[in-house]
Amino acid sequence: MRIARFSIDGNVAFGAVEGEAPPGSTEGLVLNIIKGIPFADFELSGTRVPLDKVRLLPPVLPNKVVAIGRNYAEHVAELGNALVDDQGRPDAPVAFFKPSTSVTGPGDPIEYPSFSQEVHYEAELAVVIGRMCREVPRERVADVILGYTCANDVTARDVQKREKQWARAKGFDSACPLGPWVETDIDLARAADLTIQCTVNGEQRQLGRTADMIRPIEDLIVHITEAMTLLPGDVVLTGTPAGVGPLNVGDEVAVTIEGIGTLTNKVIKRG
Ligand code: MG
Repeated sequence: MRIARFSIDGNVAFGAVEGEAPPGSTEGLVLNIIKGIPFADFELSGTRVPLDKVRLLPPVLPNKVVAIGRNYAEHVAELGNALVDDQGRPDAPVAFFKPSTSVTGPGDPIEYPSFSQEVHYEAELAVVIGRMCREVPRERVADVILGYTCANDVTARDVQKREKQWARAKGFDSACPLGPWVETDIDLARAADLTIQCTVNGEQRQLGRTADMIRPIEDLIVHITEAMTLLPGDVVLTGTPAGVGPLNVGDEVAVTIEGIGTLTNKVIKRG
């Protein structure tokens, strides 16, 4: 099931997306409004609205977004980073936060921050957590996942390079587009082998496969929940494949993940 969150006439609701549309389009899709919330047992109301008649919102409102950096070898290399530390030991995954205020929805603008001259796109598979969990053992990881969506880990690369912590570089408002919906029918095995693509103004910039992650989703969830509780609606970003590059004001950036959909955002100057 594809679960979207949307607003219509000032009300916010979740809905199950029904129908099929051409890639990147929402034409002909319909929302079957959900009674309740998708983090517990819920029913479909049977009341349907055309998706083109509503405003899609970020599919969840995370309490936190925990992001993993440097999880694709070719991307690690393109930024000149090493996969082992200076003692030759394998590096632990890099984990960082993107604040809830950085989350924005499909079709919403990415606001180019005033303090950067080099903002990059990073297409990523996002894991949406379905239940409160801590110290999740590897064999229970599937139980805590609601589904998957597309993310763009928008990064002020120049700021990331000159500031030791990445809070500003990766945490500015609108730096975390999520959407267009949560696909719940993907299991861990399938999530581990999906095509992930980024285009800017229709030109392909990134093309990778989640199979190339250095650390699989199970390891990331174990690693994160060793330290902290994840809540329903929290999001884990799993890293970006090679091909990152700049965004400019006026660009339209689209992240497409096989079996999920396309997340499109336009870059604007912060007003
Ligand atoms: Mg990233």
